[in-house]
Amino acid sequence: MSATSRQYAELYRRFQAPISKVYDCGKKCAPLNNGTPFCCDAENAIPIVEKSEYALLQSRSDLWKPFKPRDKQQANEVADLKGSDCRAVECKGAAHCERDNRSLACRSFPYYPYFNAQKELIGLAHYWSFEGSCWIIHNLTIVELPFIQQFVASHEYLFKTDPAWRDTYIGQSSTHRGVYSKRKKKFPVIARNGDYFWVLPNSGGEMVPAKKSELYELRAGFPGPEYK
Ligand code: SF4
Ligand code: SF4
Repeated sequence: MSATSRQYAELYRRFQAPISKVYDCGKKCAPLNNGTPFCCDAENAIPIVEKSEYALLQSRSDLWKPFKPRDKQQANEVADLKGSDCRAVECKGAAHCERDNRSLACRSFPYYPYFNAQKELIGLAHYWSFEGSCWIIHNLTIVELPFIQQFVASHEYLFKTDPAWRDTYIGQSSTHRGVYSKRKKKFPVIARNGDYFWVLPNSGGEMVPAKKSELYELRAGFPGPEYK
């Protein structure tokens, strides 16, 4: 069963920490996207929320409205949601962001809850399609512990109320391993205690500790030295 609006309100209460108190990452990526942070641009990713989450947001603010497709592909994506518990939405834009009324997806980006092959929740892994766009993905050592802890705790709360979300992310984690195995590349995971690991390709999801010095090499994947 979907989480209720009341449960989303509790989830929001538990998940308020910024990804970093030091860096405003939107200032790092926006110059590459005509001044709009990539994750706040519906052209890059249509925000999807559960109907119960949308009802909560509507009761708190006029920040969000139904998403209007701009082209056929977007119309198809929206049509795919018909009959589901989810709907496509969009906010008024980054200039009008209301911190307390960000969706769970906004709060979590660029991370999703990573499960190992044994279906244990390990921590955070990134949405790989935003590599090269999202500055955080290339600078993950700046992600702060309160964010990590609240990310994990709030998702554990969500999984208790709606086990289907757990299955979704177990599938997403498996796909991530498959994509990187095809690339013959390892990918980083931030564990719930703030430690870093590599998930090795073609290994059944084996994890080995990652040194910060190794993670710094990911910075080279973000375009333009001026944005590092
Ligand atoms: S999370 Fe990533 S895409 Fe979003 S504002 Fe920060 S750097 Fe940009
Ligand atoms: S609510 Fe804020 S963080 Fe979420 S998409 Fe809109 S501007 Fe970005």
